[in-house]
Amino acid sequence: MTESKLQRIVIKVGTAVLTENNNIAKERMMNLVTLIANLKKIYDVILVTSGAVGAGYSALKLDKSKQIGRKALAAAGQPILMSSYKQKFGIYDMDTAQILLTEDDFDSRKRTIMFQEIINTHLNYDIVPIINENDITSTPEQSFGDNDQLSAHVACATDADLLVILSDIDGYYDKNPKEFKDAKIIKEITEIPKEALAQDSSANNAFATGGIVTKLKAADFLMKRGKKMFLCNGFYLSAAESYLFRGEHTLGTLFKPKDA
Ligand code: ADP
Repeated sequence: MTESKLQRIVIKVGTAVLTENNNIAKERMMNLVTLIANLKKIYDVILVTSGAVGAGYSALKLDKSKQIGRKALAAAGQPILMSSYKQKFGIYDMDTAQILLTEDDFDSRKRTIMFQEIINTHLNYDIVPIINENDITSTPEQSFGDNDQLSAHVACATDADLLVILSDIDGYYDKNPKEFKDAKIIKEITEIPKEALAQDSSANNAFATGGIVTKLKAADFLMKRGKKMFLCNGFYLSAAESYLFRGEHTLGTLFKPKDA
């Protein structure tokens, strides 16, 4: 078995892209799988995926306003999510593997080495590792709580060159584009203001709704470790394609360390 020399990327896809009306958004998932099948020719690709709760809800109408209900849904939905991926990657004759991680796995050196080796093995055999947070038995202290930060940790632990976050927006704006029509996209950013990282979901705030803060935290984590993150649209994959296949930055925000 020879070590792969390809550049390594982590792709994270969020709930907004993967689910629709409490169901898996099948067409968007198919587009993502096609993208990854093509990227595999030039990159080693690790996928971090959300969507287990949504997939669970498609089968089981439990109360998702309560934490235990969400965990029960995640437990039901994770295999549904994985079988959807398996079926779609199968069209390209590609195999998949499920890796469930918690924050604890990154704290323990032994456990980190273990999952690093498992992921390397998958990549060497052209299997797509599909990672999600193991939020079924984990307590709040053991979990990231969002896949943005999980994917940033995965990118570092696997020594990836880039994290690509696919979301429901074209990039990072100077204010929430869903609330402010005059919001302007920021094409490139080398430092995230402390105030932006400290924001929480309060109603009067331009950064308030959605998960932009967790994406900024993920970017900050990576940039401090000399790594890049690209945030772009997961509904329309043309910005991701331009950047990843041709190195052309059309839409999307590139977070990169100052000296990169
Ligand atoms: P995902 O499910 O892909 O992780 P989220 O809904 O958690 O997506 O986060 C993306 C959302 O963050 C956007 O849809 C947007 O409403 C919100 N948002 C808030 N402030 C900003 C901003 N400054 N730039 C971009 N998006 C923002």
